[in-house]
Amino acid sequence: MAFWQSRDFLFCGVCGTLLTFDSVHSASCPLCGFKRKAKEIEGKETRYTVTAEDIRRELKMDLLDEVLVVQRPVVTRSCPKCNHSKAEYHSIQTRSADEGETVFYECTKCRYKSKE
Ligand SMILES: [Zn+2]
Ligand SMILES: [Zn+2]
Repeated sequence: MAFWQSRDFLFCGVCGTLLTFDSVHSASCPLCGFKRKAKEIEGKETRYTVTAEDIRRELKMDLLDEVLVVQRPVVTRSCPKCNHSKAEYHSIQTRSADEGETVFYECTKCRYKSKE
């Protein structure tokens, strides 16, 4: 069975954003924080450490026309929650429309997400 056979788990059940894998145990939505345990993932194999690039390659882009996770460099930004000074910068581009890109930051310490 292919790992990607059941594809729904890759996307946030709340807002439909492509989930990112925090660890081998869970994936979470970069936008709204929705979390999914790896255990709940159907057709699971051992390949949990995937990147957006891997997913895109695997799915040959067909499901990712809408949302592209572009990059997550670490920038200096104080966390509104714990005051930690570093955050990962996320930029998500929607291909449709003129919305351009959505930018948000995720604290590297407490993983709190804040929108630009
Ligand atoms: Zn979400
Ligand atoms: Zn924080």
